[in-house]
Amino acid sequence: MFVTHLECSKTGKIYEANKIYNLSEVGKPLLVRYDLQAAAKTLTKDVLKGRVSSLWRYREVMPVIHNENIVSLGEGWTPLPHAKRLGALVGMSELFIKDEGLNPTGSFKARGQTAAISMAKELGVKKVAIPTAGNAGGAMSAYAAAAGLEAYVFMPRDTPAACRIECEQLGAQVTLIDGLITDCGAEVARRKEAEGWFDVSTLKEPYRIEGKKTMGYELAEQFGWELPDVILYPTGGGTGLVGMWKAFDEMEGMGWIDSKRPRMFSVQAAGCAPIVRAYDNGWDEAPEFENAHTAASGLRVPKAVGDFIMLNILRTSGGGAISVTDEEMVADTKIVGAAEGIFCAPEGAACFSALKKLLASGQVATKERVVLFNTGTGLKYLEAYGLK
Ligand SMILES: *Cc1c(COP(=O)(O)O)cnc(C)c1O
Repeated sequence: MFVTHLECSKTGKIYEANKIYNLSEVGKPLLVRYDLQAAAKTLTKDVLKGRVSSLWRYREVMPVIHNENIVSLGEGWTPLPHAKRLGALVGMSELFIKDEGLNPTGSFKARGQTAAISMAKELGVKKVAIPTAGNAGGAMSAYAAAAGLEAYVFMPRDTPAACRIECEQLGAQVTLIDGLITDCGAEVARRKEAEGWFDVSTLKEPYRIEGKKTMGYELAEQFGWELPDVILYPTGGGTGLVGMWKAFDEMEGMGWIDSKRPRMFSVQAAGCAPIVRAYDNGWDEAPEFENAHTAASGLRVPKAVGDFIMLNILRTSGGGAISVTDEEMVADTKIVGAAEGIFCAPEGAACFSALKKLLASGQVATKERVVLFNTGTGLKYLEAYGLK
């Protein structure tokens, strides 16, 4: 296929393709690079019209070499409804929701895992392990099952029950940890060598981002190759944010779009807002956020390995970072649901809460075209919505 090499996101050091990697030598994420000019010969805007309705429609800019290694459950190519009724509530006519809750296992984590597990299979991995705040574990369990790999999932004890039960029913071995996702990550790191596990933590392996970047390709394609003015993205580890930005650069490299980019906004929970704090203070990195707590489990990431990449994207794009409370997210789930018929995860509703603040402060104008990311289904968060 078209992968030329992998590259350290910090130092630019080049790594040979088709080998098993986690982080680079300096402990930073590795990014996959392609021969875009060659890819663009067969991947054209026109040919896409007849391609499969999953993210594998962008086959040439995906890292798998042999088609038989692709593990797909129908992920990606999700709807982008024009949220007219929700928009009208805030005086907007160009508001859209990218509805990622319709992915296999109910969240956009499926995008990352289809790529990571396909690559694990291609590279001969037999056992995969993951620390998860909830949805990544379910997605990994599903794709590992479909690939015939053993799956080991580590999640905080207070992860929503649906996430735990889902992993168990998908055949994974689940370990509950008294702590946060960072503690789960430490447990995976401590045991992986002895157990022979490949660690598929966010941005600690190079391919989840390749799956998540397809959200950027889809937005461009669904909008007729014109990117929106503003993207609001609920940010935990930031794979989607980093991925979409990478996709925009790749599309420009293939001659599909120009250099104009959306303003990217990270939305975080007030109880766990390391990126917002770093952004507000003008820092280049985001130190660990102490006593992280929020019902939006996907946002409960106190320390992100890709922090410096995200902060750079938020600043270069002219966007920003904003936090909202759990109460605001939960209240807005019903506003979005009743207006648009989409039962959001709290992470998704958080984007609408954030939009109202950005409109009030003048950082976003009502006439702009804005995309909110609903990153998961509300069905996995019944405790947050009042289930006892
Ligand atoms: C994981 C997750 C997020 C955060 O995604 P990142 O790309 O890691 O920032 C947001 N929402 C939901 C529902 C998630 O599962």
